[in-house]
Amino acid sequence: MQYHLDGFRPGDPCVAQADAHTDEKAAQVDVAIIGCGPAGLTLAAQLAVIGGMSVRIFDRKSGPLEVGQADGIACRSMEMFEAFGFVDRVRREAYWVNETTFWRPKAGAEGLRRADRIQDVEDDLSHQPHVILNQARIHDFYLEVMQNAPARLTPDYNRDLTSLTREEAAEYPVTAVFDCLDAPGQTETVQAKYVVGCDGARSAVRRSLGHALKGDAARQLWGVMDVLAVTDFPDIRLKCAIQSASAGSILLIPREGGYIVRLYIELDALHGDERAADRNVSAQMLAQKAQAILAPYSFDVKEVAWWSAYEIGQRVCDRFDDATGPDGTDQPPRIFIAGDACHTHSPKAGQGMNVSMADTFNLGWKLASVLKGQARPALLSTYSSERQAKAQELIDFDRDMARLFSEKPKTPAEEAQFQRYFQTHGRYTAGVETTYAPSQIVGEATHQHLARGQRIGKRFHSAPVIRLADAKPLQLAECLEADGRWRLIAFAAADDDGAPGRGVARLCDFLSQDPRSPVRRHGTADADRVIDTRAVFQQPHRTLDLAAMPPLLLPRKGRFHLRDYEKIFTVTGDDAQDIFDMRGIDRREGALVVIRPDHFVAHVLPLDGLDALARFFDGIFRAPA
Ligand code: FAD
Repeated sequence: MQYHLDGFRPGDPCVAQADAHTDEKAAQVDVAIIGCGPAGLTLAAQLAVIGGMSVRIFDRKSGPLEVGQADGIACRSMEMFEAFGFVDRVRREAYWVNETTFWRPKAGAEGLRRADRIQDVEDDLSHQPHVILNQARIHDFYLEVMQNAPARLTPDYNRDLTSLTREEAAEYPVTAVFDCLDAPGQTETVQAKYVVGCDGARSAVRRSLGHALKGDAARQLWGVMDVLAVTDFPDIRLKCAIQSASAGSILLIPREGGYIVRLYIELDALHGDERAADRNVSAQMLAQKAQAILAPYSFDVKEVAWWSAYEIGQRVCDRFDDATGPDGTDQPPRIFIAGDACHTHSPKAGQGMNVSMADTFNLGWKLASVLKGQARPALLSTYSSERQAKAQELIDFDRDMARLFSEKPKTPAEEAQFQRYFQTHGRYTAGVETTYAPSQIVGEATHQHLARGQRIGKRFHSAPVIRLADAKPLQLAECLEADGRWRLIAFAAADDDGAPGRGVARLCDFLSQDPRSPVRRHGTADADRVIDTRAVFQQPHRTLDLAAMPPLLLPRKGRFHLRDYEKIFTVTGDDAQDIFDMRGIDRREGALVVIRPDHFVAHVLPLDGLDALARFFDGIFRAPA
């Protein structure tokens, strides 16, 4: 992490200097976010970190979540937490899902047998683990990021959204009215340039748009409980999918802290207007059901920390915004929905919280870029197109997973099918399979062969490197902060040591001097404020000369024009951990990888693909005034 750029400041470097919009609670704002769940908080944290915008976030609850709800954190979400700077705390507190076991009824006898035991996440899928941590803790971390960011953003609790209207000609075209639950009879009205509904499965924002969640009419009822129990079940500290002969199924998830365990118990489907409350589910009933499924193992529940019976249908909206016409050309989007507000699914694949956070990580930088006048408003239409397709795919996956989970396999082949499905879709549940189609922000795969392991449209796949200036080993992803910046990573050709006239230096000359350069056209006082250029060389770090590197890779920044020394990297020197080999980078030609602010690979180009690079950014950014 870098700090002290604009002068030495004592104290916690995570607390940024406040900006002009410090928690101003204005009646007119750039962005109003409805809902303090994972989707709303990810968006609020990202906008707060980027700074320079007025943002408010509202929730009808009286304060932050304390217990319960989702807990599975996919590797991809951990990569995102790394970008927000709190991944190390999650790693320390969380349960790590390293292996998963499958339990089935014993053939021709009472009881259960372990049918299989597998590695949970395949090697090198991500440099971050798959972990389990209470959703409430994730909320805490986001709230801290918001509070420490330049905007010092804090939520407005006790605000229940009751109406949302859009009036085209106004500077702040969307008006939100809230009931003040802490002052009965009073309302608060806020006008916003953009409103994002992160208000959960019964979203008022979705209703105001007239969008419907489409999908299964029946909703699955789930019993969930976090318990402290004494048991002789041997895999109590491993994630297990357990199918009994006739008592039902459990998904068992060990929790953080070493003792507590979560049980997901599938109950019956709800039909029509039936609600979970109509089924009289109780903690005692869930504990009894768990004992019956696990028998003959004992399961003596000592304390129920949290339990819930919650209903989930597999449903998705057709659009995630209020735009009309192709690409929003008739009415550009002003109101968006994200997370459970626009897609719901079962907890079996552990995706609810992860996909909700990924929605708004996709949207946040786009809103910031348009609000700051950098990108054209057309950029905002890519949110719905990218995330709706992802949600639809998730629903299809979840339906298959749910069917396999509930079905009773009759033969060993059928039994093996579930394990296989689970294993082969590990990449999917890890969140790293999301692929966005070509668009204004995802290039065509013409030069994909130059970086085969950095697939265009997928998230940038990190690997270890050494930072040249201070010989620090790190993951390249550590430089992908959640700060709304684009990144250009130049992977140098084998004979390129950064000297003038070679590929990386020619690219840097273009970027810093040519009038067509996106860095020059869209940069500000600091050359890396909008587009951050970095380079990775193939030589061992001790053989390269830092002083001979192109000035763009050692930019002068801040009020003292200090040099930034953290943009140049080399291979690790360990052949098994060589980023060029691990990610299929062409050693002879090198490659230029363009990374979006949400970490997705936007393009792969040759190092001399300068026209194509300029055209790509001209398609996104406004022409400079
Ligand atoms: P939410 O987390 O639902 O957040 C929406 C927020 O909007 C809430 O804070 C709500 O108070 C607020 N809100 C709603 N309406 C208004 C309004 N009109 N005005 C102002 N604020 C409003 N997933 C799992 O994987 N495993 C689980 O065990 C699990 N258990 C769950 C138990 C419950 C009771 C619930 C509700 C969900 C559970 N989920 C579980 C689902 C998981 O929590 C969600 O997928 C995830 O939280 C979605 O995040 P979100 O931000 O989209 O919505």
